[in-house]
Amino acid sequence: MGYEYQLTAEEAKPSKRNDPIIDGRGRKRWPRDSAIAATALQRANYYCEVDYRHATFVSNKTGKPYMEAHHLIPMGQQEDFEYSLDKTANIKCICPNCHRLIHHGRKKERNEVLNVLFSKSKDKMKQVGLEISIEKLFSFYE
Ligand SMILES: [Zn+2]
Ligand SMILES: [Zn+2]
Repeated sequence: MGYEYQLTAEEAKPSKRNDPIIDGRGRKRWPRDSAIAATALQRANYYCEVDYRHATFVSNKTGKPYMEAHHLIPMGQQEDFEYSLDKTANIKCICPNCHRLIHHGRKKERNEVLNVLFSKSKDKMKQVGLEISIEKLFSFYE
């Protein structure tokens, strides 16, 4: 249930992943482009992709409903993917409550939300070279 949208031809193509940044402690970090996240929110027309009825407030900065961007396959998994995870197909527009639930909720509720997002996204993700099973997705959040 919700708002349906299409990716542009450019967005629907796989992208080469960025090179990781090694921080001062020698840890790898995968860079992300905030403009791509902003585009993902725009594509979803600022509706929560878990359920379009989830309301927030109007953002002072953008004048649009306040929503947050979440990488469904977390950026920390980039090592295992040949193509970039920083794509609109992998970035979900979700309300702050759903976002906190994904990161801080109990497994059962978290997986329900992940399942909704994955069902809506898997075909688009496949197009950009990100093909995984729901079980694999769940494992990223354990
Ligand atoms: Zn997140
Ligand atoms: Zn929501």
